[in-house]
Amino acid sequence: MPRERVIQRQGFAFTFDPGACRRCQGRCCNGESGTIFVNRSEIRAISKFLGIGISELMEEYLVKVSHKFSIREIRTNTNYACIFYEKEKNRCSIYPVRPHQCRTFPFWGYFRDRPQEAARECPGVSLLGSE
Ligand code: SF4
Repeated sequence: MPRERVIQRQGFAFTFDPGACRRCQGRCCNGESGTIFVNRSEIRAISKFLGIGISELMEEYLVKVSHKFSIREIRTNTNYACIFYEKEKNRCSIYPVRPHQCRTFPFWGYFRDRPQEAARECPGVSLLGSE
């Protein structure tokens, strides 16, 4: 299997190796409670992918956060997991239509100023200058 390309983005003091996702237990889809925002076109795409109506998707899988929608989380003890994260298979069940927020992880504005935190959270992150 060909190795996935390590990604580097301007303005970020780290690189990301997507190959690390296979060795990771979904740390970006689990852990502390958070928000996984979905916009209208993402809601349409997820509903089409799951073969369910938009109202069913909203009722079963989304929560309203202020004036936006976020993907529901499942709480187990102190862990919060995205409802679409499949623990047994260690994968995202809506991967082809996962929202922008998930596609762009870990290159978020939040981590731009906190590269050490990104490295602690994600085993695919390597701090530049530390290899
Ligand atoms: S939508 Fe998929 S990639 Fe995004 S947090 Fe949920 S399980 Fe993870």
